[in-house]
Amino acid sequence: GEFKFDLDTPVYKGNVSCNTGLFIDGKFVDAVEGGTIDVINPSTGKILTKVAAATSKDVDIAVAAAKKAYKTSWGLKVPGTQRGELLMKLATLLEANIDEFAALECLNVGKPWSESRGFDMKLTLQTLKYYAGWADKVHGKTIETNEQKLAYTRHEPYGVVGQIVPWNYPLTMVSWKIGPALATGNVVVLKVPSEITPLTALKLAGLIQEAGFPPGVVNIIPGYGATAGAALSLHPDVRKIAFTGSTLTGRKIQEASAKSNLKVVTLELGGKSPNIIFDDADLEQAVKWAAIGIFSNSGQVCTAGSRIFVQEGIYDAFIKAFRQAAAGINTQTGDPFSEGTIHGPVVSQTQLDRVMGYIDAAKAEGATPIIGGERHSLTDGFFVKPTIFTDCTPEMKIVQEEVFGPVAAVVKFKTEDEVIEMANDSNYGLACAVFTENVSRAVRVSNALEAGMAWVNCNVTTEHNVPFGGYKQSGYGRELGAYAIDTYTQVKAVHINV
Ligand code: NAD
Repeated sequence: GEFKFDLDTPVYKGNVSCNTGLFIDGKFVDAVEGGTIDVINPSTGKILTKVAAATSKDVDIAVAAAKKAYKTSWGLKVPGTQRGELLMKLATLLEANIDEFAALECLNVGKPWSESRGFDMKLTLQTLKYYAGWADKVHGKTIETNEQKLAYTRHEPYGVVGQIVPWNYPLTMVSWKIGPALATGNVVVLKVPSEITPLTALKLAGLIQEAGFPPGVVNIIPGYGATAGAALSLHPDVRKIAFTGSTLTGRKIQEASAKSNLKVVTLELGGKSPNIIFDDADLEQAVKWAAIGIFSNSGQVCTAGSRIFVQEGIYDAFIKAFRQAAAGINTQTGDPFSEGTIHGPVVSQTQLDRVMGYIDAAKAEGATPIIGGERHSLTDGFFVKPTIFTDCTPEMKIVQEEVFGPVAAVVKFKTEDEVIEMANDSNYGLACAVFTENVSRAVRVSNALEAGMAWVNCNVTTEHNVPFGGYKQSGYGRELGAYAIDTYTQVKAVHINV
């Protein structure tokens, strides 16, 4: 089937459309068992369309198609230059349709246009172009040996790679996954950006067809995690799973690997990133970045600076200005397609209930909501006001657990040693941010924090050519940059007797 929607908005006028089937072996098809998923508009709570829901039977078909494509028309059989050209063609097609993609993402995820068009789509495009450029630059080393031998290494693809992504950056996450996988010669079965936000990935499937990728090289199948996702992670012909999502699901994927064929697993999981503001920080910058860190994408950001540690000397001034920033964002909450909107709804009813549950728990544990702490009564959509809790203590749920919503937990601190200890007191280790004008302290503290990414005097910025990933229970393996190339290739050492 086909989804079509007319938009007549201040930022976008025209149609948005995509196919609603499973994209397998170069064609759109219905699910074998005929199941569908309702796709909801989070700004209104109303259903937009239904898309096909894959079950294990469809996963089997998609994996078989991918396996065949790997043998016949991809892998190292196809020169890197050719793989790169196809990826570049895909990027060019995406660029030509970028506004429509941005609008479709706003509709399905509730992202403000400014974020969808201004951030997500830009990063998606850069990522695809970047990995298109990598496709003919992956090579091994020659190694001197003691024996009369020549040794060299080859960086070979895994073959069929299963990819599972969440709903917070649907299309962007797809580009992070397929870009390096295809550049290095793998074939892909992608369970699309979570069952609740499949539309832009399905639209991209149409462009993959148009670009002329051989059938089966990329398969894109919407489906529920417990069925399609689980089947993919258990499949004996899948050699690697690349997963982005919650820590809970990450564990299940690793278990599935252990139970099946010991497929390689890379995990990008949740976070509870500390954002540390020292007395000597530039107040205006610290406030600006703290707000971006926790309120952009309605806080549904894995690297969100959700624990804000503020030193006692700057505390009062910071809280006053941070509260003002949240109040400003609250006045710019609303329809994703309005020009001034910078704060949209959270993605679903489930997510809304989860965020409100954390807000209630924080109140019950004695934290003080100095602003927000409730739903926005704007529309029937899933809007939560930008919320700041003060008087937070390290053992509170709001400080320990990932909320994935626009909710900041502020903790006051005295010394550098104390804040390093508190910041590291977390199962997560995805990212951290440090605000200080003292360069020695910036280096000392960012070195001491247990996190895969550290920002100094900025926050949550992501570049397509800089590695992205976590420590501890935030996962392992790196996406983006040259590092992702390593996670999609296995090394073969060849010894030649001379
Ligand atoms: P989730 O783990 O519930 O779902 C993620 C994906 O996994 C979905 O596509 C889902 O269908 C699938 N899934 C669910 N159960 C499965 C199973 N048993 N087997 C296989 N697949 C299954 O997470 P979510 O709620 O969609 O996303 C939010 C989470 O993602 C947050 O914890 C966030 O921190 C994390 N996240 C991490 C990063 C990162 O790069 N570190 C980026 C974005 C989001």
